[in-house]
Amino acid sequence: MDSRQDDIVILGGGVCGLFAGRRLTAAGYRVSIVEKEPRFGGLASGMKMGRNFYDQGVHMLHEHDREIYEDCMAMMGKESVAVELNARIRWGGRFYRYPLQFADMIKGMSPLMLGHAVASLLLAQIRNKIAPWEPENCEEALIQLYGKALYHFFFEDFTYRYWGRHPLQISAMFVKRKMPRLTAVDALKRLLGHLGIREGKGRTVESALLSETLHYSPTGAEALPRCIASQISKDGGRLFPESAVDSLKVKNGKIESVRIRNSGNGLCKTLSCSHVISTIPITGLLKALRPRVPQGITESCEHLQWLPIVVYGLLVKKERVMDALYTYYRERVFHRVGEPRNAGLKVEPHGHTVLIVEMTCKEGDEKWQGTQAMKDSVIADLEAEGLCGRADVIEINILRNSHGYPVFSLGYEPHYEKVTGYLEGIDNLQSVGRQGGFSFPNMHSAMRMGADAAEKILRPKGGDNE
Ligand SMILES: Cc1cc2nc3c(=O)[nH]c(=O)nc-3n(C[C@H](O)[C@H](O)[C@H](O)COP(=O)(O)OP(=O)(O)OC[C@H]3O[C@@H](n4cnc5c(N)ncnc54)[C@H](O)[C@@H]3O)c2cc1C
Repeated sequence: MDSRQDDIVILGGGVCGLFAGRRLTAAGYRVSIVEKEPRFGGLASGMKMGRNFYDQGVHMLHEHDREIYEDCMAMMGKESVAVELNARIRWGGRFYRYPLQFADMIKGMSPLMLGHAVASLLLAQIRNKIAPWEPENCEEALIQLYGKALYHFFFEDFTYRYWGRHPLQISAMFVKRKMPRLTAVDALKRLLGHLGIREGKGRTVESALLSETLHYSPTGAEALPRCIASQISKDGGRLFPESAVDSLKVKNGKIESVRIRNSGNGLCKTLSCSHVISTIPITGLLKALRPRVPQGITESCEHLQWLPIVVYGLLVKKERVMDALYTYYRERVFHRVGEPRNAGLKVEPHGHTVLIVEMTCKEGDEKWQGTQAMKDSVIADLEAEGLCGRADVIEINILRNSHGYPVFSLGYEPHYEKVTGYLEGIDNLQSVGRQGGFSFPNMHSAMRMGADAAEKILRPKGGDNE
């Protein structure tokens, strides 16, 4: 059978699944994309509520992956707006540029604190150089990277508030895979490097870029996934919104078919498949396999958890409230507030703006529910920051996602390996993306994962599928 006639089923219509679909349909393959929500885009989406669009956390595309960026721009056409990165960190009553600059950081510290920070960073560097060590948890990894003083000053309390866990309860892997590097500390380290005190290689993650162009749209984050989905449709792909994965039938080490359930009418449909690319949470994928997975695997799934995110989208009766695209807050009920109008979002009526207020939470807690008390605290903190007053807030819309961030809790690694090892035994299945790979990609990296998964089907090892 010509492989181009194969039915490829993609589970999850976030940007990873969509981009896999984009690649495969462009190559002439028959593709079905199954998405439980009514709209595509997953985390990187938004929706119209009232007269305006609200993002599920402000989402802007980076240019780092040129091939993906150029394809996205071709699909978006005039809907794309280029905007310079202009972000801030609010901390201790001051504003700092994001990513944190060396000069700003010095300004924010007392001479005593600065001396303490440099001395402890120096100590950490010397220790790493003389006797490199493997940190056992997130606290040790941060101390290894930044020294004790900066750890206590900058990370300890914030990590706890953001992640709902003390750094001692989080895996060291989290620092490698998720935490952005402090550019200011890189500068200090370079200085120490000039003095011959340089740490061993391979311990850290990439720094954020100081200046770069991001891409947005007048309708916000919803535009990019909408444009990709529309291209897939034009290329013959089948889209199944409002359809959750119900079960996957495994036979002789392969997925034979996928059963999906429409959440509107409750009807089920079975899609036969030659390959499956799954971008839904890896734990949900395992639970859907039939016959059921062994109990040991189900138990390991319990150790893979996610931190939910809730977004309060506010329509505010003000022309503009902040001199940035977004600001990170370390001491407020929210951790980031974006003003997407500053990136080109069209807001109605005239003289109004939209604020996207992001918070991590627990499913079902007050933030998640959006109780009046919580809305009041959000507005009180916005007021305390001088962004808007109670009377300026015209409406509050709430967007929720139970899978905001994977949590690398202490000791999760063997469970992750057990689960992925089990899935590797299924020949025609790939589990990728933020939820399928249990990782923290940006949009372009999630799309790259989708493109790579598609590539494995287009050009299997040793195969000749051109
Ligand atoms: C607050 C926040 C802000 C961010 N800002 C940026 C940014 O500005 N720029 C950037 O590059 N990245 C940003 N990111 C990262 C980016 O959102 C993600 O990495 C990317 O969207 C992940 O895409 P994905 O397709 O892998 O996963 P997801 O978007 O999570 O997609 C998974 C999809 O699977 C669907 N699904 C789940 N279960 C089922 C089921 N049983 N059946 C069917 N479908 C199912 C979900 O509904 C979802 O659509 C941000 C992330 C967050 C949390």
